[in-house]
Amino acid sequence: MAHDEPQAAGPTKLVIRNIGLVLSGAMEKPILDADTIVAENGRITGIGRAKDLDAEGATTIIDANGTTVAPGLIDSHVHPVAGDWTPRQNQIGWIDSFLHGGVTTMISAGEVHMPGRPRDVVGLKAMAIFAQRAFWTLRPGGVKVHAGAPVIETEMVEEDFKELAAAGVKLLGEVGLGGVKDGPTARKMVGWARKYGIQSTIHTGGPSIPGSGLIDKDVVLEADTDVIGHINGGHTALPDDQIRCICEGCKRGLELVHNGNERSALYTLRIAREMGDLSRVILGTDSPAGSGVQPLGILRMVSLLSSLGEVPAEIAFCFATGNTARMRALDCGLIEVGRSADFVIMDKAQHSAGKTILDSVQLGDLPGIGMTIIDGIVRTQRSRNTPPATKVPVIVGH
Ligand SMILES: [Zn+2]
Repeated sequence: MAHDEPQAAGPTKLVIRNIGLVLSGAMEKPILDADTIVAENGRITGIGRAKDLDAEGATTIIDANGTTVAPGLIDSHVHPVAGDWTPRQNQIGWIDSFLHGGVTTMISAGEVHMPGRPRDVVGLKAMAIFAQRAFWTLRPGGVKVHAGAPVIETEMVEEDFKELAAAGVKLLGEVGLGGVKDGPTARKMVGWARKYGIQSTIHTGGPSIPGSGLIDKDVVLEADTDVIGHINGGHTALPDDQIRCICEGCKRGLELVHNGNERSALYTLRIAREMGDLSRVILGTDSPAGSGVQPLGILRMVSLLSSLGEVPAEIAFCFATGNTARMRALDCGLIEVGRSADFVIMDKAQHSAGKTILDSVQLGDLPGIGMTIIDGIVRTQRSRNTPPATKVPVIVGH
């Protein structure tokens, strides 16, 4: 089990050349005119044509072999607990498995599966601070897990949010999974969180597992969290008219999850497109969950939304990269100078009916992953989880 983040010894310079297609992650310009990317010490320093870029002194050279480079995928909604173990289905190595599905960054929506999870204020604060520290120290396979997302309880006061923020906590777990299930209390605490720079999300829809509850449109809109967590339910979705009300009633993030109602995801997508608000759409898996873990969940959402939602594949990839990065103020998720050198290198799967990778995704197939890179360091080569890519990149020099 790959538990320790591979460390670079000394300065690094990564050159990826002979790229067939660069997906930027940015909806305003999803495809870049480039065949080469250069990254130094984990940051992108050059994007363009090989002849215009300085490849001198490269410590790693990758021949992309005409394949597609996209930003590493971001899973906006996971429930980690400790290390690369999840008690939900008692699995080990689930995060490493997601890396093989192209996911290089994960956002915790609360460490709610922790056995014996404390619900008293001092206990829940301690657990959040512990999770934030632990996941930043130990990155399974190199995956950046933004964890430490406390689930709010009614006894909390403003000082608690100030203290959490000062200790490095940047996220709230899904509002509604704890004792706070009413709009006014949620709104007050989300406001405190925002005041101290802590982002918030909310559980939308029916109870996910015994013990959680219904959060309807009135609570969602009143709470005013930064992200409308699984607006397509987790799994039980709100009725369509309530989903429409939420989309139209605020400008917050519209998170679509794999472990949700797929028809409702497509409905939300349609509303967002009608409103000209596709930049609000972000993707998560909401795993581990009752249906297990889904290493290919983000790719499957991209393919679902592109094929059945009739969204160009290059735009659907933005839902899983640039949109999330911008909404959550991450330094990854876009192929842009200065950003983290986190990439997924893909090609169309062998024997896909699609003529190109984008065509294959629009036809509902998954791409094959040939390599993942985090902070400019190669983490995996041909994926053990995706269908095999037609062409794969190769490391040609160190
Ligand atoms: Zn939820």
